[in-house]
Amino acid sequence: MAVLTPLQIKNLTEQAKQSKGLIPKSVLTPLLNTLQCDISTLLQALLPVATSFSQAPISQFNVGAIAYDKTTGNAYCGANLEFSHQALSLTVHAEQAAINNAWINGAQSVSVIAITAPPCGHCRQFMNEIVGADTLKIVLPALETDLQSLLPHSFGPKDLGNEFCLLALKTHEDIAFPEQISHQLAQQFMLAYAPYSNNPAAVEIKTASHGCFYGRYAENAAYNPSLSPMQSALSQLALAGLTLNCVELTSITLVETANGHNQKAVAAAVLESYCSDCVLQHVLVK
Ligand SMILES: [Zn+2]
Repeated sequence: MAVLTPLQIKNLTEQAKQSKGLIPKSVLTPLLNTLQCDISTLLQALLPVATSFSQAPISQFNVGAIAYDKTTGNAYCGANLEFSHQALSLTVHAEQAAINNAWINGAQSVSVIAITAPPCGHCRQFMNEIVGADTLKIVLPALETDLQSLLPHSFGPKDLGNEFCLLALKTHEDIAFPEQISHQLAQQFMLAYAPYSNNPAAVEIKTASHGCFYGRYAENAAYNPSLSPMQSALSQLALAGLTLNCVELTSITLVETANGHNQKAVAAAVLESYCSDCVLQHVLVK
């Protein structure tokens, strides 16, 4: 197995933090050449980088995952994110975080995911929603397998008549956004994946010194492992090594459709976990 030195892990973690959890092809290729290993082995060796972004105040059980997209050649970190004093069901799992990170960064497929622990049922179901789920390779500490083997006789998008999958590029019909919605937030909204509720939604977290972070709503055919846009955005913040408690906030905005209108409560619930007194701006569009 390829071994990265503690110094390499430290440097790669710092780089990943700066790029909000993205490990680009330009970093992976030289490592593959130097270590003379395959991508699965390298992803496994990089897992400590992803795990370092875990925020698990409840379980103290840190999980890391790295999704790899062979089309772009990039890898995307993910880590579990728990919310103190909130329902455990709001937790973002590492696999969700990695796939969300790939999606937010524009990946349209994930071919391999390496994880520090076997994926729970919730994550197997979440991963079953993505493009290419039937060939998704899963790399675990003691096993290389695929999602099909871990989730036989599965229930997925097609069972609800949905021909599109998570990560597929599909935007919503033209919408007129009010002025207070930035161009970037409008774009994130247009890329949200809400085939079951038809309520696309997105979040923008603006900070004074660390730039902006975005989250998109990602639904699931089984409904429960869906990822709300606020969880998605906070996960992106965590992958930059940050939390709401340690950044100077400018604004937090949730945009969703007036018809659907179902993300405000969950957004408020996860925000309550933090000391921030930042007011959530809630914007409805038609
Ligand atoms: Zn899980």
